[in-house]
Amino acid sequence: MGRKSKKSGKLFIVSSIFLLLISIIFLLAYFYFDTEIHKTDKKNGTIIKLKEEKNVLLTSKKEELSKIEANITELDDLETKLFNTKKKYYGTIKELEDQIISGKNDKKIAYLTFDDGPYYNTYKVLDILDKYGVSATFFTTTINGENCYDKKDTNCLVLYKEYVKRGHTIANHTFTHAIWRGLYKSADSFIEAVINQENQVKKYADGYKTNIVRFPGGSSTAGKLKTSIIEKLREKGYGWVDWSAQDGDGGSLKSTEEAWNNLKSSINQDIEVILFHDYSSITTEILPEAIEYLDSKGYVMLPLFYESNVINK
Ligand SMILES: [Zn+2]
Repeated sequence: MGRKSKKSGKLFIVSSIFLLLISIIFLLAYFYFDTEIHKTDKKNGTIIKLKEEKNVLLTSKKEELSKIEANITELDDLETKLFNTKKKYYGTIKELEDQIISGKNDKKIAYLTFDDGPYYNTYKVLDILDKYGVSATFFTTTINGENCYDKKDTNCLVLYKEYVKRGHTIANHTFTHAIWRGLYKSADSFIEAVINQENQVKKYADGYKTNIVRFPGGSSTAGKLKTSIIEKLREKGYGWVDWSAQDGDGGSLKSTEEAWNNLKSSINQDIEVILFHDYSSITTEILPEAIEYLDSKGYVMLPLFYESNVINK
């Protein structure tokens, strides 16, 4: 064997190793790029899928939104209709009042009013009024707090919505009703208690705005402050009313007979504002007959409203 053939053998081995290395590099490069291409494809696939999902979601949300918007428009329309109906209703009552006052109509009106609620007993009162199809006025206060004074484990604030739902007027009897504990300290303390009760009613009766006040104890209880309180009430858009008849349930009533005597002897005008209290079991007991009695005497029983002649402004 010569030197030449030894040299070519070496060259062959080196070239083979070189070729092998090149092949390995190519193979690695191929696998690497192939994986990257796969990764990109997968990524693109995910993006497309996400975009599709986004579009589906957007379309459904758009549909939902237009449904909500349609509902809002419908509610706005209903609210306007309700406002107009109420306006017309009160306008008709006002006309009737004017006719009665001028002697052109021999009908009579009794405004049934219930003070100091809501109580749990108010449900009974509401049910009786429902039974006779009578709308009344509730002069509310928060003297009893959140739970019913006459049923401590039950929330009474839900009654605010009930008054509205059943077509009654909610009026303002001040938040504290604290006749001897600061309510009549000044005109401002009284107005503060009115505004606090106004907010309470707004909160629990879906934005209902009160505009009629009854002074706890009656307007004479305000003494020297009465004039300045009335002035401030007027500034706030409030009217006020006392009462012209009652069964005496705010005092020390002992029997239904006594209540009947009080009520019958106090009813003598064509337009009466009758004072009752939600908590009185005696009033609750005589209420069905009292409604029948008033009806037999030609009284139509209606809810109070700001424009009424009986509301002082
Ligand atoms: Zn009261």
